[in-house]
Amino acid sequence: MANEMGITVKKEENMPEWYSQVVVKSELADYSVVRGCAVIRPLGYSLWQSIVDYFNQRLNKLNVQNAYFPLFIPESFFHREAQHVEGFAPEVAWISTKSDNEERLAIRPTSETIMYDSYSKWIRSHRDLPLRINQWANIVRWEISDVKIFLRSREFLWQEGHCVYSTEKECEKETKMMLKEYAKMSEELLAIPAITGIKSKKETFPGAIRTYTFESFMPDGKALQSGTSHNLGQGFAKAFNISFHGEDGEEHTPWQSSWGFSTRLLGALVMVHGDDKGLVLPPKMAPIKAVIVPIAQDKSPEVMKKAKEIHKKLKKFNAHLDDRADKSPGFKFNEWELKGVPLRIELGPKDLEKQSCVVVSRFNGQKEIVPLNDLVAFVDKKLKQIQKEMLEKARKKVEERKTKATTYDELKNAIEEKKLVLAHHCGNKECEEQIKTDTGGATTRCRPTGEDKPEPNSKCVCCGEKAKYKIYFAKNY
Ligand SMILES: [Zn+2]
Repeated sequence: MANEMGITVKKEENMPEWYSQVVVKSELADYSVVRGCAVIRPLGYSLWQSIVDYFNQRLNKLNVQNAYFPLFIPESFFHREAQHVEGFAPEVAWISTKSDNEERLAIRPTSETIMYDSYSKWIRSHRDLPLRINQWANIVRWEISDVKIFLRSREFLWQEGHCVYSTEKECEKETKMMLKEYAKMSEELLAIPAITGIKSKKETFPGAIRTYTFESFMPDGKALQSGTSHNLGQGFAKAFNISFHGEDGEEHTPWQSSWGFSTRLLGALVMVHGDDKGLVLPPKMAPIKAVIVPIAQDKSPEVMKKAKEIHKKLKKFNAHLDDRADKSPGFKFNEWELKGVPLRIELGPKDLEKQSCVVVSRFNGQKEIVPLNDLVAFVDKKLKQIQKEMLEKARKKVEERKTKATTYDELKNAIEEKKLVLAHHCGNKECEEQIKTDTGGATTRCRPTGEDKPEPNSKCVCCGEKAKYKIYFAKNY
């Protein structure tokens, strides 16, 4: 039976179309009449909420407080930090105010400038530091017109943390710490392996002295920059007149960091775990962790009675009882598979006779017969097991795609084969640009943490100059 609701293309054969169908048909999100924008539907928003809830708990532990700053930024603020304005100018949307005397306003593409203007008023003494503030917000980057839901759109949701420190050491330490937090969240919550490291100069955030990144590697051989943590040095502090009175009685310029991730993570979640039937959600992300589907419910009041009992018992997993009388069990199976619910519990008259039920894992299709008395403990154990196995499976896939290149031909071939390629590089921007041209789009992703040290006397894979470090190359989203 052709199922209009279902996914009509295979992930391996046409991933862009597969992705678009999964996102829309599972009701995660939808296209909008507003060009370049998307609508996040309740299922998609609940996934974002899972991330927000997890991360707010972490922020609380790390003494970071949430706050909110204006969406609009005076034009002059952008010009205070030269690299920052140059980096963001092409993607800023402007608001022309009615009065000619009023300054033009930007819709925030990121909030460094507007936040640091406030910081310059709030920070007076070393006792005001460290200052650690996070904001959950929407961001607008106008240059994008072809929307790819969660991955590319003019407006998206994110968090941006902005911290101020009295010493360089503390600033660098916490910039790295946030990257670790991101990697931990990616792996523990989203079951997506994180590749962490330092960005090349070319890929460094405009205005930062160093950018740390965590990259996710997609099944189509493209990397996705999933979160970044920047050591901003003292450039913004100088541009925004942030200074503090030190213990030594002197005025000092503080050090700053900023860090962020966005709803892009949901795009990674879909691509990494989804299959030809639709979404596959890691249990920790799934709003509904188990769905109960009664079989022959109209013929057997006992089945319905028991199904309701089970529903109550599985409350802590936010289980859902699908008792729609007008839909067949087969229809329900397909729909919940499309939506990625981790466990399906089937209960029919024959199961009831044996005082058992059938539990099916969305992740690998495994069917298990479980005595009703053991169900709660079984579900608890199974969800934990699935969460772990999803990360292991995803990690294995990334490891299979990792390779090394010592010659330029090897690099070009490996990119052609959709690999994540580690190679020596000189660190020059022009050389990176050349590689991008020659490979049809490969860029440097990151100098992997603890593995970026060049071999003795090694040369750049492209230009043959002395190598500065080892860095990953891949095409990217
Ligand atoms: Zn080079």
